Amino acid sequence: MTETSHRDDTSDTPASTGPRPSIAFIGLGNMGGPMAANLVAAGYTVHGFDLVPEALEAARAAGVEIAASGADAVRAATSGDRGLVITMLPAGRHVLGAYQGSDATEGLLTAAAQNTLFMDCSTIAVEDARNLHEIATAAGHRTLDAPVSGGTVGAEAGTLTMMVGGAEGDFEEVRPVLDVVGRNVVHCGQPGNGLAAKVCNNLILGASMIAVSEAFVLGEKLGLSNEALYDVASSATGQCWALTTNCPVPGPVPTSPANRDYQPGFAAALMAKDLGLAKHAIETTGTQSQIGLLAEEIYAAFASGQGGTKDFSGIIEQIRDRSGHPA
Ligand code: NAD
Repeated sequence: MTETSHRDDTSDTPASTGPRPSIAFIGLGNMGGPMAANLVAAGYTVHGFDLVPEALEAARAAGVEIAASGADAVRAATSGDRGLVITMLPAGRHVLGAYQGSDATEGLLTAAAQNTLFMDCSTIAVEDARNLHEIATAAGHRTLDAPVSGGTVGAEAGTLTMMVGGAEGDFEEVRPVLDVVGRNVVHCGQPGNGLAAKVCNNLILGASMIAVSEAFVLGEKLGLSNEALYDVASSATGQCWALTTNCPVPGPVPTSPANRDYQPGFAAALMAKDLGLAKHAIETTGTQSQIGLLAEEIYAAFASGQGGTKDFSGIIEQIRDRSGHPA
């Protein structure tokens, strides 16, 4: 059973059912920075930490109270009645490292008051999220995995899609916070299921972008204009987000990255990362997913080669180059 909430865009503040939690926000980068800023703007007290001074300065300017360490941010946020810890870090090893700490760095789990709710929004492996849940539960805390979709534009606008795994009661507790940073909020079930939804969604996205790009290049080779193919497919059964929002050829969708030399947008490197997580899930579950595995292979090669700094829709250039130009 899933549950969805849609934010009322006309309201400035979340519909909270109780006192607002103080929030510790760890990882104030491209995504975490604007998410934390939106929470401050909505009236939350946010104690933030990042390893990079520039990220700290930008967050301070947005009203985040900067702590000397992640553990200090967590202590400050969880010292009162209600505290919430949000992490938005690059990969699973960073989240595990932050939760557990090291000889040199105090872990977030030990710094938190008992029974604190930890919500990790990073894109990590499903099994890493479930592992984090076990570790945090053993330390006397609660967890949600809440990865996001919508990129930096969605993070800035507060319109992210939030996919949440974890206990129903914890999801309800944190929903007012989710409604500030996201527009579509879906409870996906047990711990790890938010990440499961994320990798499945991005398998669809990666595969459909390759298919759309191949179709445009095939059309070019057959003498069909990009505009004609777009006009047909965008209102026929080929319709999908990769075509109608992130169209890989310039022209039909003026806001798509193809119109600005494939500047991201959603970087090919992030697509390669997400498909790597999908591949891991495919292999560990024994799922028959030939297209998913092929999409991972194609994006891994693209991101480490000519697509290193490009939007993932730039895959069309590689397909066109390898196809030879139309006669
Ligand atoms: P980013 O690299 O811009 O930000 C991550 C931040 O974490 C950095 O500022 C880094 O200094 C900080 N950090 C790392 N270890 C830390 C620690 N121990 N303590 C405190 N701070 C630490 O990355 P991002 O683009 O913000 O992405 C964050 C996550 O969101 C990733 O998992 C990514 O896959 C996912 N994501 C990104 C996008 C996107 O478009 N950028 C979209 C959806 C999901």
